[in-house]
Amino acid sequence: MKNIEVIPWKLEGFDMKRPIIIAGPCSAETEEQTLQTARELAAFGIKIFRAGLWKPRTRPGAFEGVGVAGLPWLQKVKKETGMYVGVEVANANHVFEALKYGIDVLWIGARTTANPFAVQEIADALKGANIPVMVKNPINPDLDLWVGAIERISRSGIKQLAAIHRGFSTYAPSEFRNHPQWLIPMELRRRMPQIPIITDPSHISGNRSLLREVSQQAMDLNFDGLIVETHIRPDEAWSDAKQQITPQQLHEMVDSLQYRKPKIEDVPRTVLDDLRVKIDDIDNQLIDLLKDRMKISKEIGLYKLENNITILQSRRYNEVIRDRNEKANRKGLNIEFVSKIFETIHEESVQLQSIVMNSKSNGSFIYKQQP
Ligand code: PEP
Ligand code: MN
Repeated sequence: MKNIEVIPWKLEGFDMKRPIIIAGPCSAETEEQTLQTARELAAFGIKIFRAGLWKPRTRPGAFEGVGVAGLPWLQKVKKETGMYVGVEVANANHVFEALKYGIDVLWIGARTTANPFAVQEIADALKGANIPVMVKNPINPDLDLWVGAIERISRSGIKQLAAIHRGFSTYAPSEFRNHPQWLIPMELRRRMPQIPIITDPSHISGNRSLLREVSQQAMDLNFDGLIVETHIRPDEAWSDAKQQITPQQLHEMVDSLQYRKPKIEDVPRTVLDDLRVKIDDIDNQLIDLLKDRMKISKEIGLYKLENNITILQSRRYNEVIRDRNEKANRKGLNIEFVSKIFETIHEESVQLQSIVMNSKSNGSFIYKQQP
């Protein structure tokens, strides 16, 4: 795969330094709500305003956006506040309308990214446009589909690109509306290091209480920015009410995040080196201990074989897990983590004992104890 060309966005007075913050309502509902939200965001120094005009909804009957009627409202936002404005486009017609009204930034939504024909139609409509385009991850956890959509837009000549990480839908119940699956955007970064990644904590969380945590995680992974749904009256929003916050709350959240140094060279080497030496040493000890423990497991297997008793002794197993969890708890360790480790150790132990027991063939016992 030839790596695509990405350049910083050419928006005067805006620089791509972390954290890039894009904010605005899920949907533009009325002129008053759009303008008032924009005014409050501009007062906090937000430079790029988002608002959905065409809303692809999973089920019919939900609010599907005001459409072209909202474009003049966004022109007013631009004129009055000086912010750049961005909308979601889901087909060629949306692209033509948005460009006609001087929209500055476009993004492709998660449902659209999942459909290569739709993405290609948008890419064709974008030919000759010199505008930043952000591509949301597809709703399903498929990195190639995400990369493919970015490539299609890139091939139409767009170089001002970004990826938006908005999480992935799952059938199983989860605390997230869309599971972040951080490994996928991390792998995107490895494959396309030149493309900025903007996390959308709103659609990942689906509710206000997780927003900060998700945003902090994005910053800790050195992603480039956040796109956050913001509304002057979040509870009354016509779409995605549970996840929207006020401009004031956004300001407080962005201020409360930690922006750590991205480069290891920026912290004194010696401190980190010392800690890493300690970690290496502890891991070596863990390996030696595991080796000793497995050696004893084999001896137990041998004993069980000689006395003709089954490998699994449920009472003992339950007691081991209970005892280890209790000790771990007393030491302040996470019980779930510790029980996972002991379950894995026990599984390996059973496996080894089973090898020991079943290696007696033709009357000759072939198990040899390790030195
Ligand atoms: C949105 O940004 O409002 C939206 C519809 O998001 P997504 O495409 O991520 O579902
Ligand atoms: Mn939304």
